[in-house]
Amino acid sequence: MNSPASDIKAIENELKKTVSVAGAILYHLGLADYMGHCSARVPGTDHIVIKPRHSVSVHGMGTVEPDRMIVIDMDGKPVEGRDGPPAEIFIHTEIYRARPDIGGIVHTHQMMTTAFGVVGRPILPILATESPHAARPFPVYCDPDLVNSPARGKALAEALGDHDTVHIQNHGVVFTGPTVEEATLASIHIERLALLNYFSLQLGTPNVIPQEKISEMLKGNRVGYPVRFAYYKSLLDTGALSARSIVGAPPIAQHLNLTK
Ligand SMILES: [Zn+2]
Repeated sequence: MNSPASDIKAIENELKKTVSVAGAILYHLGLADYMGHCSARVPGTDHIVIKPRHSVSVHGMGTVEPDRMIVIDMDGKPVEGRDGPPAEIFIHTEIYRARPDIGGIVHTHQMMTTAFGVVGRPILPILATESPHAARPFPVYCDPDLVNSPARGKALAEALGDHDTVHIQNHGVVFTGPTVEEATLASIHIERLALLNYFSLQLGTPNVIPQEKISEMLKGNRVGYPVRFAYYKSLLDTGALSARSIVGAPPIAQHLNLTK
């Protein structure tokens, strides 16, 4: 049964808030700046809530308020909002079209994860909490250009296949999940993993967590994504994430601890 229009509107409004918070978290962790975008599929519709294209009045991902978020359809056509969609809207439309299980997408140019894609080196599962994201090496889409056409979006979705993350080599990364919160946490956790891979490789040969152990850990009593997302949101709310550098050593390095 279809939801009444008022219910869909309420869901869209909630998703606008979540997409705004997701962008702010990524911005303040140094994983995105004015480039990059988060989106959420509006369940049961062909609508997508997404950050608008950056412009002289739409700035960094940390400053786009919920009422500035836009709604588009699966062809990238505007449904609601005063600003236009990002040039790379086809990352979102074509992945949502190809993968009905995906409800949230994050695209960033985050440095350390992108570096591993640039050299075609896998990010190894070496950190307990984050390793489920990297149980398999991420596929690499080998066109550095903007994903600004349906054909490029389709090729990217094909490269993603049944994975959750895909490198856009020499450009950035696309993270997906059942929700935009989970796609956001994938971006954070994978950057932490990439950092620890980098550090560990300076010291020696990293010990990799075996696949069977990752599967076993996944069956355990793990903290769910709402708790983890709420933690990062609380950092925003308390101003703990207010300091941010543009490039270089990302602030996320400060959060590279082994807390479960
Ligand atoms: Zn991009």
